[in-house]
Amino acid sequence: MKTLEDAPFIVIDLTSGLHARNKTVHEYYNLVRNDVDWRYYGYCPPLGNIDITRLGAEPGAEFIDGVTVVYASKTRASLDREVVAFCTNARVYHKPKTDVFLRRTVWYKSEKVDCAYSLESDSLTDLSHYPYKFKIRLSHYGAALLGGQRYFKGQNPEFDAELLAYLKDCQAGQDALEAEAFQRGFNLEGSVPSGAVCEAGASHKTFLTEKGLPYLEAHKLVPGVDAPWNVVLLCPLCRRKLQYGTAQTKAQVLRALYKARKSYLEEAGISLQDLLAQY
Ligand SMILES: [Zn+2]
Repeated sequence: MKTLEDAPFIVIDLTSGLHARNKTVHEYYNLVRNDVDWRYYGYCPPLGNIDITRLGAEPGAEFIDGVTVVYASKTRASLDREVVAFCTNARVYHKPKTDVFLRRTVWYKSEKVDCAYSLESDSLTDLSHYPYKFKIRLSHYGAALLGGQRYFKGQNPEFDAELLAYLKDCQAGQDALEAEAFQRGFNLEGSVPSGAVCEAGASHKTFLTEKGLPYLEAHKLVPGVDAPWNVVLLCPLCRRKLQYGTAQTKAQVLRALYKARKSYLEEAGISLQDLLAQY
């Protein structure tokens, strides 16, 4: 495992941001888990193969491991790009691969075609909701910085330093968030935020503890899934409803919670029906 500092990195420009959001092109898949094996497979805009020797690979190698892959997308108001996600310790292929196992097709010129991928990794940090955005200032660096819709570490030392500092900040922030959510899930004492409310309904009544914090109970929404997003805070009544209520009562609470965690549940391939079936 390479640290962010030591790893080579590549920035991939996913300029068709709108298409990606409409789920009509490859770009959409770069940022979501594959539902077959739960890994991330990324597509690189097809302007020739990726020259992986620029990431430290031997000439003629099929792939290189341990690469940081940064995804950028066009911002609304300017030509600048914004970093939307990144993977660490990714594998990058010289030639794109297709694999029926991945079961992914897209529509291209009114035909269904298989997705090819050049990048794969076990995890991805999605920054779309991260409060601090990193702008790739093409107005400052020049449009050639992202020529061919990709950038390799080493092309511009000033940009490298700027981007690396941001990624390190994000990683530290991510670690802190996960530690906090873990705490919240297993040791609620003193760690409920002062403004917290029941996630199944903000108006639900609870009481204040001696510390002046709202009393809420942590609950794993999908049984058996250990992930920070899977921990919800509930008022005591909702928690008991999920344990002792009728199917109808449980469904009423679960529908609200599904809504609150929708993007994560969808990404994990869990429908509302799947969730209801767990209770
Ligand atoms: Zn409640």
